[in-house]
Amino acid sequence: MQTNNEKHFWDESRTLLDFSVPMDYERMMSCLDLFIKRYPFLSVTSAGTSLYGKTIPMIRLGDESAKSTVLYVGAHHGMEWLTTSLLLRFINEYCEYYKNGKRVFSINIGNLFRSHLLCIIPMLNPDGVDIEIHGADASPIPDRLKMMNGGEADFTHWQANGRGVDLNHNYNAGFEAYKILEKGAGILGGGPTRYSGEYPESEPEVGMLVNYLRFDASVEMILTLHTQGEEIYYTTGGKCPPKSKNIARLLSQLSGYALSEPEGMASYGGLIDWAIETLGIPSFTVECGKGENPLPASSFFPVYTAVREMLFTAPILL
Ligand SMILES: [Zn+2]
Repeated sequence: MQTNNEKHFWDESRTLLDFSVPMDYERMMSCLDLFIKRYPFLSVTSAGTSLYGKTIPMIRLGDESAKSTVLYVGAHHGMEWLTTSLLLRFINEYCEYYKNGKRVFSINIGNLFRSHLLCIIPMLNPDGVDIEIHGADASPIPDRLKMMNGGEADFTHWQANGRGVDLNHNYNAGFEAYKILEKGAGILGGGPTRYSGEYPESEPEVGMLVNYLRFDASVEMILTLHTQGEEIYYTTGGKCPPKSKNIARLLSQLSGYALSEPEGMASYGGLIDWAIETLGIPSFTVECGKGENPLPASSFFPVYTAVREMLFTAPILL
């Protein structure tokens, strides 16, 4: 059920909201409603529509005529909704600093606003997030979903989208090679994790994102947030665009996260694999926090504290 009444969710008297809550789609949308009311310079557009028909919001922060555009993406995976909270909190802080003419980490946010357009998709996979948090009843096909979940009613480890495709294996990068590994791992169809779909870009969430990157945008860098591992990936198949390594080192210093090379099934079909191979732009997967997925909502503050400086500083590293 949709509601436009954010009072159910957020304490509006707070300047910075409390994001240490399970972040489902409805809660995110009500947060964005509040941001639109509070911050007239913020633009929220639709990046596309999920399989179940949910609008996938993209927040645009900065001058539309800025010289660089940077893309941040959260929640490719159902049980990684903490990354949505991280991005919403970042937007919340950014807007407060901008509104009040403040600096943070010695960055003048007014200057950043003029020089860099930040496009942020806090939740690429709203269907998967809602299934993970609310179970099969969040889906119009609960019985089919249960079958894909091995007959289990517990969806707390659901990573895929609304038809059991793992979005971060649905990009057109090493897709054929991945299919062989997938089969070898006994993954023959839709399920909670790692099924890549019938063909590359078969899923609306992935299709709309790659079309945006191909045709509409002058995106020069991508940061995609996942949980967990406190690691940063910046290569695919040993490839690494110019400037990537230096930027990756700086991101690592800013967050304290280690630089890593993808191994095995993790190195195929993901957003950064596609963006590095096809667009040749610096693209980073940041595995936020450490523990067992899903990281609990109570881990929001320590995880945000670790990635905060990186989120503010990344655009100016280009
Ligand atoms: Zn992930």
